Amino acid sequence: MATSTPYTRFQTTLHKVLTHLDLEDGSNELFNEPQYIHKNDITITRDDGSTQAYHAFRVQFNNARGPFKGGIRFHQDADEDEVKALAALMAIKTAVVNIPFGGAKGGVQVNPKELTKAEVQRIAREYVKTFQDHLGPDIDCPAPDVNTNPGIMAWMRDEYEQLTHTYSPAMITGKPLEFGGSLGRDTATARGGFFILQEMVDRLALEPRELKVALQGFGNAGAHMAKYLHEAGYNIVAVSDSQGGIYSPEGLDPVRIYKYKQKTGSVTGEYCEGSVCDIDRMKLDNVKTISNEALLECDCDILIPAALDNVITEENAGKIQAKYVLELANGPTTPEADDILEKNGVRVIPDVLANAGGVTVSYFEWSQGRSGEQWTADIVDERLKRVILDAYKAVRREARRQDMTYREAAFSVGIKRMMDAMRLRGWI
Ligand code: GLU
Repeated sequence: MATSTPYTRFQTTLHKVLTHLDLEDGSNELFNEPQYIHKNDITITRDDGSTQAYHAFRVQFNNARGPFKGGIRFHQDADEDEVKALAALMAIKTAVVNIPFGGAKGGVQVNPKELTKAEVQRIAREYVKTFQDHLGPDIDCPAPDVNTNPGIMAWMRDEYEQLTHTYSPAMITGKPLEFGGSLGRDTATARGGFFILQEMVDRLALEPRELKVALQGFGNAGAHMAKYLHEAGYNIVAVSDSQGGIYSPEGLDPVRIYKYKQKTGSVTGEYCEGSVCDIDRMKLDNVKTISNEALLECDCDILIPAALDNVITEENAGKIQAKYVLELANGPTTPEADDILEKNGVRVIPDVLANAGGVTVSYFEWSQGRSGEQWTADIVDERLKRVILDAYKAVRREARRQDMTYREAAFSVGIKRMMDAMRLRGWI
């Protein structure tokens, strides 16, 4: 079998659902390739005076439902195929939560951790210069993604406004609060996932205190999720970051872990310095170190991948003990793993639903940017809850009606909404 790539993995799910929906000839084609792929090398001057070029991409998958929307990642592995897959997922995601956007994604093939802040700023500005004609509040509105943050969004907005001689707060979302950002945007991804989990747990009449949760990734989404879960009484038994993790059957305190991560740079920082750990203290607290791979297979009820893609695969899916998987990361589960999990009765709440809180509050930020309004934190939270739970219920209904997994049902809901818009436009 040919090795899969992020885009072929997206297509596997897509085709399964398109076949199920039995679409008329021709319309399938519209989902096969993005509408536009923009790519260029961007060149910056390094602090030492040398010049360096990086591959950069903006893939615009579909804009039938509204302006293209989706984050920009700075990552050494970001390539055309990955950005294409992520752009396609964004198109499905905005349709699942029913917000008036299409889907896009951007990427620069760079490891920003090896650059100075000034160099990162040059890349951010150069990116906007390069793709300027394809961006804008009514054209394509970027946002943060892996390794990009509100500060980078501020430079991008500033660059765009200088180039176009406009005032355009709605050209990008995920901006700092004091520069056109929205309250609740930083916590939105976790908050959306939390609302869905709570709804599911309530409906199944489960008791949070009796549910063991393992969380992979302690970045923006993972750390906030841990806090919400802890406050609601869930038993967080394992957390990790890129350097490794910790496990305790009695439960961990994410607030304490967060403090140590701030201080030492890793979630294991309370007990370990690099690979040297204070074994006596760990014994006393009944804590063990755990690798990222082992965390996925640990004894838990709910597994939350909140970091990388492609982590639940054919190799480990059969060993997963959790009964529920909530995908806060984009693309953490391969189609082969999906089949194994389904066979084993594991329910997967897919990325296009579980992490859609982020783009939902991006939509609120875009609306505020255009109207000049400033919504309170309570209004953002309340509206996010409504949008995300409506989406969850639509997916649940579709899954039941069509006898599908939640991922297939989410794709089905999203594709049908995209098709409606394309039909009205006369594209099909
Ligand atoms: N990068 C985020 C995602 O994958 C947010 C996109 C946005 O807010 O436009 O959903």
